[in-house]
Amino acid sequence: MKPTLKVYLCSPRGFCAGVVRAIDTVERALSLYGAPVYVRHEIVHNRYVVESLRAKGAIFVEELEEIPQTDAPVVFSAHGVPKAIPSEAERRNFFSLDATCPLVTKVHREAEIHFKRGREIILIGHAGHPEVVGTLGQLPAGAVSLIETVDDVASFVPKDETKLAYITQTTLSIDDTKEIVRALKERFPKVAGPHKEDICYATTNRQLAVKKVAHLVDAMVVVGSPNSSNSQRLREVAEREGCPRAVLVQRASELDWSMFEGITRLGITAGASAPEVIVEEIMGAFAEHYELSVETVTAAEETEFFPLPRPLRQVTAAE
Ligand code: SF4
Repeated sequence: MKPTLKVYLCSPRGFCAGVVRAIDTVERALSLYGAPVYVRHEIVHNRYVVESLRAKGAIFVEELEEIPQTDAPVVFSAHGVPKAIPSEAERRNFFSLDATCPLVTKVHREAEIHFKRGREIILIGHAGHPEVVGTLGQLPAGAVSLIETVDDVASFVPKDETKLAYITQTTLSIDDTKEIVRALKERFPKVAGPHKEDICYATTNRQLAVKKVAHLVDAMVVVGSPNSSNSQRLREVAEREGCPRAVLVQRASELDWSMFEGITRLGITAGASAPEVIVEEIMGAFAEHYELSVETVTAAEETEFFPLPRPLRQVTAAE
């Protein structure tokens, strides 16, 4: 007889509205214009999603220079791009479709407004992440400085501390970011910030659900890719909230069963770019080893929906 395992399924988990929009953009472009559709960078950070779109005719590149002269659509990923990229696409007469999440675009607009008001901008985020590269690239070099930790706040030297503003990456840890913002405000009381957090609703809700579950379980499985910022944060949040073992996996085949020996309670969640079909695959794998009883733990209801990029919307409406 199989041992029993109580599974707590975090809700919300998996795809957010920005990811759905980005994937739909590529799929819609493929069905309207046919293959190939070029996509700059992984459309979202998930190998399964990327491979599925590749099988349908999407060609993924890291830079525009890898794309030959073409009439085929060129899609920019959900993470956003530096301003130089759409300019280069225009120069090369590409038919570009911008799948940047509207909540990332909102941060780009905030940066522009601060810049117009003569403020030096601090971006709280992770160096090298494509969203950070895109946000830094909205303004001339030197206009935005990246801060990753509370220690960075202490060593930051502003040009004029009365003219400072901060913005953040959308997929950070809520708790870490609070600490950094607190340190910033302590050191620079006049720093301007967003009216409401730049961390998006999806990141926030997925972390809140993990917090509700982490202390109830012996282990937590986070479905997501290692290069997915919000998935990595979910694993960290689980550990910090007292879950003894938290692991990030892309597929059931990556599960290390020795890690789950003797557990009786398991939490499962998925990053915003991870499809539900992989969560089902993981549940199926556990069901082979254990007798499961499943309970969903809900932290928030989500109803967000973002319409497709305008060129696709117009074609859709005309049909
Ligand atoms: Fe947009 Fe947030 Fe989803 Fe990123 S995680 S695509 S910012 S909704």
